[in-house]
Amino acid sequence: MRVTLLGTGDTTGTPTVGCDCDTCETARERDIERTRFSVHVENERTGESLLIDFSPDFRTQFLREDVALPDAAVITHIHFDHLDGLGNVFRVVDALDVYAADETDPKTDKSVAETVRDDYHYLEMLKVHPTTPLEPVRVCGFDVTLVPVEHPPLVCYGVAIEDPETGAKLSLSGDTSYDIPEPSRRVLADPDLLLADAIVPAALCEYHPLGGRHENEAGVPRTFGTKHMTREGALELADDLNAERTRLVHLAHYYPADEAFAEPLAVDGEQYDL
Ligand SMILES: [Zn+2]
Ligand SMILES: [Zn+2]
Ligand SMILES: [Zn+2]
Repeated sequence: MRVTLLGTGDTTGTPTVGCDCDTCETARERDIERTRFSVHVENERTGESLLIDFSPDFRTQFLREDVALPDAAVITHIHFDHLDGLGNVFRVVDALDVYAADETDPKTDKSVAETVRDDYHYLEMLKVHPTTPLEPVRVCGFDVTLVPVEHPPLVCYGVAIEDPETGAKLSLSGDTSYDIPEPSRRVLADPDLLLADAIVPAALCEYHPLGGRHENEAGVPRTFGTKHMTREGALELADDLNAERTRLVHLAHYYPADEAFAEPLAVDGEQYDL
């Protein structure tokens, strides 16, 4: 399993358009990018490629990285930075199987699968597969499981991807608070590589109107507001899940410049063989 981090940024990316903060300036100077979130997973046994989420930066990412176009994809939730790049496949990909959750979201009255089908009805090459969370499906030769996470007010899912032949395992937290339900944690546990949402360091919770929550024993918030993990929360999740290796993703430009490019914060283009 070859994992390529196509997009490691939050919804504005780094550098952010029109921003001259020290972190964005440093990123420009060092030619570092954190485009909007997407991960490419290649099955070297079958030659197939699975894409996790459709970044609005899809075109840039596939021009930049030497990876194959996807045969199938998973969509974690319907936020702009994870779904709205899907239109980029028009006249680029001939056929695409898209897996998304089949549970009705009380907020939208539709499942993620139904939203994808309705919003992209003009993409005739799409085949949307409504998928039941916590039940593995075989995609591109992998066992892929969507797991409910906590990203109010929308439903959102983490993803576990396992190669049944080699035992390699990739887990993604999805956009989530630290409050990931226990059944989901069990599915995500013991990955070779964990990609965890770590939007900002915990110290920035004081600037969020809702502050932080899910404090640890030292009083450090593991959740920023209600929707995302702090860096500290993501690292604790990695410990909880017994991750062999962890990269922090979905990173905002609000990290101070001297922390923004430190380990284990990911940047675009990283590649891992599991
Ligand atoms: Zn900035
Ligand atoms: Zn989101
Ligand atoms: Zn997001």
